[in-house]
Amino acid sequence: MTPETSAASPEPTITAKNVDLSNCDRELVQFPGAIQPHGVLLVLSEPDWSLLQLSANAGSLFDAAPRSLIGRKLSRLIGAEQMERLRLRAQDRLLTGAPVHLMRVGLHETQSASLREFEVFAHRHDGVLILELEDVDGRMATVLPDLYAEVRHCITRLQGAQSLPEFLDLAAEQVRRLTGFERVHVYQFREDRSGLVRAESKSENLPSYLGLRFPATDVPEPARRLLSRLWLRHLPDAAYQPVPLVPETNPLSAKPLDLSHALLRSTSPLCNRFYLNMGVRATLILALLKDGQLWGFIGCHHGTARHVPHEVRAACESLAHMVSLLMAAKEDAEHAAEALAAKARVERLIEAMSREELFLIGLVRSDPDLPAALDASGAAILVGEGITLLGDTPTEAQTEALARWLDGQDEIFATDRLAARYGAASEFQAVASGLLAIRLPEAAGYVLWFRPEQIEEARWAGDPVKPVEIDAQSGEARLGPRRSFEIWRETIEGRSRPWRDYHLEAAASLRRAIDALYRAERLAQANQSLEQSNRALARSNVDLESFAYMAAHDLKEPLRGIGRYSALLKEDLGESLPDGGRDRLDTILRLTRRMGDLIDVLLNYSRLGRAPLAPVPADMNEVVGEALDSLRPWLEAARAEVAVEPRLPIVTCDPARIMEVFMNLIANGIKYNDRDHKRVEIGVRTEGEPVFYVRDNGIGIEARHHGVIFEIFRRLHGRDTYGGGTGAGLAIVKKVIERHGGSIWVESTPGEGSTFFFTLQDHSGPAVPADKPAPPVASP
Ligand code: ADP
Repeated sequence: MTPETSAASPEPTITAKNVDLSNCDRELVQFPGAIQPHGVLLVLSEPDWSLLQLSANAGSLFDAAPRSLIGRKLSRLIGAEQMERLRLRAQDRLLTGAPVHLMRVGLHETQSASLREFEVFAHRHDGVLILELEDVDGRMATVLPDLYAEVRHCITRLQGAQSLPEFLDLAAEQVRRLTGFERVHVYQFREDRSGLVRAESKSENLPSYLGLRFPATDVPEPARRLLSRLWLRHLPDAAYQPVPLVPETNPLSAKPLDLSHALLRSTSPLCNRFYLNMGVRATLILALLKDGQLWGFIGCHHGTARHVPHEVRAACESLAHMVSLLMAAKEDAEHAAEALAAKARVERLIEAMSREELFLIGLVRSDPDLPAALDASGAAILVGEGITLLGDTPTEAQTEALARWLDGQDEIFATDRLAARYGAASEFQAVASGLLAIRLPEAAGYVLWFRPEQIEEARWAGDPVKPVEIDAQSGEARLGPRRSFEIWRETIEGRSRPWRDYHLEAAASLRRAIDALYRAERLAQANQSLEQSNRALARSNVDLESFAYMAAHDLKEPLRGIGRYSALLKEDLGESLPDGGRDRLDTILRLTRRMGDLIDVLLNYSRLGRAPLAPVPADMNEVVGEALDSLRPWLEAARAEVAVEPRLPIVTCDPARIMEVFMNLIANGIKYNDRDHKRVEIGVRTEGEPVFYVRDNGIGIEARHHGVIFEIFRRLHGRDTYGGGTGAGLAIVKKVIERHGGSIWVESTPGEGSTFFFTLQDHSGPAVPADKPAPPVASP
């Protein structure tokens, strides 16, 4: 089965104490110091091509003791003409990799006087030129006449294969057709490095190896490395007698010659015995690589010695190259189809999520359902305190405990043997040996997919855990080829079907989508409350503005019309109208004017809410002074006294607006006042935020009205009492103060007077008492 196990000779003896599978890997397969007997090996120094080392069987070919040939030039042995042709063929080649076929040479064996033909292969390695002369005699007859046409035919058939298994079957069949070997199988290396026979073509009388597993030790690391470099190994007869090199070491390096690449290199006796134990004498191994990595090989076995001619080997090698390429494409295409299907399912899931207001609802109700999206049989969603289980899953408590354990794992976690990672999972491995988990953004929770245990019965060719045999005589442990190929059955538990890369990618894209939806959802929630208040605000603004517009244009225009026609009516018919009629006309005119005033007030009020403030540091004594100046004639008429605290602070505010505030408050203090000596006092309290006040000795306001008076068009008195008014003054005052960031309130004792207090937001720091003379006190 194996291309080559090890090559140490004699067979390595390993004591029971140091037995370890890696012993096999450490053996040096490339320095056997011998070759197989179906050819002659010559080690030459360059540039003169004189002999440094040679296989002992060269002696009989050249009729001389092998040692006597050392130092001789090759041209003396094969003739000048053949030597020249060889040189010409070799000169343009690097010859640094696998041996290259140069030409066929004919040599006259001196003893028999017969002509022997050899295929010459050359490669440079270990500082020397190595020529291998492969005996043409004794080779199997080439099975098929036109190898090139055959290979093309094989490739065409391979290209037509529908599935990977069909493709691999066909590859085995075609190689068997080219080589005529009794058994050809396609062997794949698995993740655990063991091998699996994926396809087989064999003669009917042989037992089948199809589906058998072979322990990783059957193909040790050095053999794997060599195979991936050389692509092909051929052993024509496992029962050969090795031919030693003469001298044993390379005289240039004084070390054993490295024969890693040599075609004739003697293989390990262990390896040979391994084959003979299997009833195999000839083998041909063709490497299969995928993405530069050894994927497996095509192994050919034959029960009798069989030397495959180099042309057939070359044909097989090119076929193996093609198989590698096509197989990689085929395997990728098969996965790509599955990957596309998984991607499409996850996209539908994402779509379902994004349709729902709460994406988690979409996740639970989607079609395909959440487990099916990733080819699982169960799923769980854990968000906050909530847990939703879909399909076959562990219990809620088990799932919650699992989620806690997942907190310490990667954001995307996948395993096909959960119990091996998380011991508690052995309780529920029947439903969840496979787990794929994504942690939601901001540790909001998890989405988990479960795959059930898939109990697998592996059929091993030999006991995979006992590659060591105890030598009956010495009692020592021997790492040797198995003598028995009985099939070992092993039940593999606690594993699910593996997750593929595309499952992880699909889960990652789902996680990204959840992340985006999660953010969008939270943004929407935040916006919703903002929107609600904005909407309310916008509505009131729009209402007010449209009302103001309507008032200005739609109401004022007809109102003006009413006023004009009433005036014309009075003018034209005034004299002829009865007294009552004239009075009514006067009332119409008065009401029209009043309505005009109300509309103006409303316009003013609505503009106040929208017009920007122009805040500057303002001396409040000046602001109050201006208010008094505007009121002066009216104050004098009312014989009112206004006392102003002389050191009011400087405050940042819109002084024009604050002047209106003072005007309104002062005017009200005088208006709603029955006293002969009407008095208003203006001052400030400056402990902390300055609190201005306007105090009067007027009629006072009952406590139950303290809130109402600030509403627009609210008056506590009859329309024409206390000098009349629209009931908008305090509403405007309140709005101006609030737009400054301040507040207004009233304290009052009916019959004694009222004090209005207000604050203003001060942008210039604490209020500074102004150091200046008091403004004149307004007095009648
Ligand atoms: P207007 O003075 O135009 O009626 P205001 O909004 O200025 O409207 O005042 C609303 C009501 O509050 C007044 O009608 C009056 O009844 C009451 N009021 C306002 N200021 C005072 C005050 N200083 N003393 C007593 N009552 C007042």
